[in-house]
Amino acid sequence: MIDKIIETDILVIGGGLAGCFAAVRARELGADVTLVDKNNVGRSGCSVYAAGMLVFNPDWDDDIDAWLEQFSRVGEYLVDRSWAEILLRESYARHRDLVSWGVSYYRKDGTIGFPEPGEEPSRPLWLKSKYRRTCRLSEFGSKDKMLLARKKVIDSGCRLLDRIMITELLKKDDRVAGAVGFHVRTGDFHVIKSKATVMASGMLSFKGAGYGRQFNTGDGMMMGYRAGAELKSLEWGGIMYVIKECDTVIVNGPTWETGKKDDITNAKGEFFLGDEGNPGAVTLILWPLEFHAGLGPIYHEPYGVDREQFTEEIRKYEEKSEGPWITMLHRAGMDIFKDRLEQYTAFVGARPGGGLRINSKCETNVPGLFVAGDASGCGLGGANYPSGGTGMMKAAVSGHRAGQSGAEFALKTEKIQLDESDIAMYKDITYAPVNRESGFSTDHVLTRIQQTVFPYEVHMVMHEKRLQSALTMIEFFRDHFLPRLRAVDLHDLRKAHEVRNLVLGAEVLLRASLVRTESRGCFYREDYPRRDDKNWLKWVLLKEEGGKMKTWAEPVPEDSWGDTSMSYDERYSLKYTR
Ligand SMILES: Cc1cc2nc3c(=O)[nH]c(=O)nc-3n(C[C@H](O)[C@H](O)[C@H](O)COP(=O)(O)OP(=O)(O)OC[C@H]3O[C@@H](n4cnc5c(N)ncnc54)[C@H](O)[C@@H]3O)c2cc1C
Repeated sequence: MIDKIIETDILVIGGGLAGCFAAVRARELGADVTLVDKNNVGRSGCSVYAAGMLVFNPDWDDDIDAWLEQFSRVGEYLVDRSWAEILLRESYARHRDLVSWGVSYYRKDGTIGFPEPGEEPSRPLWLKSKYRRTCRLSEFGSKDKMLLARKKVIDSGCRLLDRIMITELLKKDDRVAGAVGFHVRTGDFHVIKSKATVMASGMLSFKGAGYGRQFNTGDGMMMGYRAGAELKSLEWGGIMYVIKECDTVIVNGPTWETGKKDDITNAKGEFFLGDEGNPGAVTLILWPLEFHAGLGPIYHEPYGVDREQFTEEIRKYEEKSEGPWITMLHRAGMDIFKDRLEQYTAFVGARPGGGLRINSKCETNVPGLFVAGDASGCGLGGANYPSGGTGMMKAAVSGHRAGQSGAEFALKTEKIQLDESDIAMYKDITYAPVNRESGFSTDHVLTRIQQTVFPYEVHMVMHEKRLQSALTMIEFFRDHFLPRLRAVDLHDLRKAHEVRNLVLGAEVLLRASLVRTESRGCFYREDYPRRDDKNWLKWVLLKEEGGKMKTWAEPVPEDSWGDTSMSYDERYSLKYTR
């Protein structure tokens, strides 16, 4: 194993859509850019799974106030409207960037091609209810959109390094000055000295059910936290539906594909979704609440799908890299016209929307550190997933912004001299698990974390006592397992660092959840079962202080509060039914 030293203006960590946009933008502005990924750029990250991106364009009669109103209401008034507006207003320009990179889209007539400037996307979303009237989803036609993004990064003249697992940020005089990591195949130690660093390392998930949940372990968020950056909105847990017999196949409901209504029933055959009606991200919490009331299992009968349309849908989606959930069921040998599908909800980790706190320039509170995409906490989602397509919109827009701000920062910054003793210390930390002759295996610790955070009664239907007891276990893992974590090879060494970040990530989620003493959207506290507008139109924040995790709450700006004179029932369309 040899040491590799790289000097660069901008280091981008993570090569999903956010990282690619950041790298390309920084390079356009004349910065020397290095992009690293622990996997293979173009085939890694959640970005490869995404089927479409939300695009706003006033020329399509899209009304900014209606969009913001929708986000606010669905996000139960915790959405940062200023960020939401930035994302919407810049989405069309980023969509055009993607077209210029060679990414094709579904056109209005159903064919795949390159939309002309100003051409409307194929698919308006959610036309039915009064506050969901203007969303549009631009569906990718290219199966390989992320390979096209990779090509764009390389063609722009960025240095691209695959399979470098970044383990820690380097700091000098309270500034971030690069990062260290190792090559997951050769083991070579990498020191990347940079004037600015863009963290684009994706979300915090716990290697659980559902595809797209196995590789992003909140590494960047936790490295940022250890470097002194603030974390925001990490109490919101991500929940996904899983069809039991299919194990990891996740079903959002064919409703999303066909616009028709499915039957979601409890063990007694009762429909329990209330006025909200359809299965969808907004009603996710109602599944575990039903189960908690002793009324599980939950069944999904997608009668809304008609055979003819279903066959056509499958044919259409087979041509794309991503299939809808109905296609996945079909592939798993299930007959959605006959089978009653037993469904459960799985806790997967943090909800996108929480992460490292950034301002509108994607700066954190630590100079030299910028954040984009799912790693960032820009407060878009609020208490619920706001709309399909927002993940890619956020990745593209915040990626571009982070690349711009990072480049502007780097180009006026002198080269930073790092202390060799610090680098040596980080090298020791990086290889410590593989240098141990005995200790706890990574699988053992990962399983224990999952057993602690996954049960529905911990992070879906929450209660102070249960959160506290889970936290006690996580603290034990932190203090007892982590100092003796042992990796048997380089592959396992990568996992060891992921596990280390997951222990910290679990502590963050649990502590943040303890702070919010109310229920709101998909965040349900059994001991505080109502929204509390008087005390909780606030964001929860965390940071490291004196070796401890400090938590606090900050009011959401008043322009995000919505109409507080409305009655509780009018204001909150999602009703907790149990
Ligand atoms: C199944 C699924 C379907 C989705 N569908 C849609 C959709 O249709 N529309 C939509 O808008 N959104 C969708 N999303 C959400 C969307 O994919 C994400 O919001 C978006 O891709 C985030 O982009 P990103 O660049 O921030 O992160 P990612 O694309 O996840 O990229 C993060 C990258 O960082 C790398 N990385 C992580 N840790 C390290 C480390 N320690 N060192 C080096 N590299 C590291 C990872 O390998 C990865 O390549 C979907 C998500 C999933 C899981």
